[in-house]
Amino acid sequence: MTRIASWRTLVLPEVRDAISDDVARIIVSGLLRGGPHTRRLEERLGADWNRQAVVVGSGMDALELVLEDLDLMSRRVLVPANCFVAIPGLVARLGGIPVPVPVDAVRFAPLIDPDTVSGRAVVIWIHHGGMVGEHAEASICALRAQGCLVIEDCAYVLAGPRPGSGPGAWGDVAIMSFAPTKPICGSGGGAVLTRDEHLAERIAARRSHSGQEHRWAVGESIYRFRGMSEIEAVIAYHQWEQRNVLRACLQCVAETYQQALPQAVVMPGRTPQATQSRYAVHLPNPMPDLRGRLARHGVASTVMFERPWFDYPALAVHQDEEDWDEIRDLLMRTLFLPFHPSLGTADCMTVVDALKRCLLSEDLERWKTSL
Ligand SMILES: *Cc1c(COP(=O)(O)O)cnc(C)c1O
Repeated sequence: MTRIASWRTLVLPEVRDAISDDVARIIVSGLLRGGPHTRRLEERLGADWNRQAVVVGSGMDALELVLEDLDLMSRRVLVPANCFVAIPGLVARLGGIPVPVPVDAVRFAPLIDPDTVSGRAVVIWIHHGGMVGEHAEASICALRAQGCLVIEDCAYVLAGPRPGSGPGAWGDVAIMSFAPTKPICGSGGGAVLTRDEHLAERIAARRSHSGQEHRWAVGESIYRFRGMSEIEAVIAYHQWEQRNVLRACLQCVAETYQQALPQAVVMPGRTPQATQSRYAVHLPNPMPDLRGRLARHGVASTVMFERPWFDYPALAVHQDEEDWDEIRDLLMRTLFLPFHPSLGTADCMTVVDALKRCLLSEDLERWKTSL
């Protein structure tokens, strides 16, 4: 049986060689942190995004460094309800009040009416799975016009050749991740992109944990190193440089799925986007055992999240009275199919066939009769 993983990192042969050469030079130089490769990556990202770029230890470090720079104490921070729990957890730890917001069922983009949001609020706008909501740019601009600070989380966004005008360029600040399971698929690291050069300087200065006694002396606390290693910077640099190849491969996979999948699992309006790094299907009915059934056909899959973040004990205090049935239904009915640059057409068809077989017996029938 062919086994299809949900994600596989692709490093092209020519990129492998370039990485090996650079890594060999780093080892010889003995400069493993804070050297020319970190600076080269920052210059490249800065030029491509037309922003100040600060390279950091991970996507979560990027978010933490940005949030630390704001005075979050008792400030409302709007976080999509379908978010990885550590993000609102970080907000709460820094004294902010994480506030869940609904998302649209097509692209999972936050739905926020700017008129109902106070100017002191911070918004963490996640382009989930690298999908970009039709309303994203206009909403982000309206929120900023209202005085909110918008952080665009681009960990999943597979940026194009000129990222400076697309997602990541609309908010006040954006963060990226170079973790192996994210679309740039490096070995780790992250970045902050900002128009504010003073913010960039402050974040760069907080990355290191040594030589920070002057901060502790004025009541601040810095616990660990949050920079990137030179080797991570080399891998991220070359992977970023070849992102167009990754995009072309992923677009093929998305188009193949789109054409071959039964209509019953395609969310109307969710057409493939070049920035996307996850492929979601929408199940006719919640099927808690579907992942297990697919796995028996050799196909791995992932869920978005099992429950909204405010269900977890550490964050439950932030839950309000609102009715979140739609989000729960969306979480239960969303399944991510294998989606990585090395999948060929035959692999995609294996996935589609497995899904049809798992669904066909009763679910597709039930879907038809319910129309
Ligand atoms: C993965 C991810 C992060 C965190 O990035 P790391 O590099 O793993 O710390 C943040 N936000 C989103 C949306 C992510 O998917």
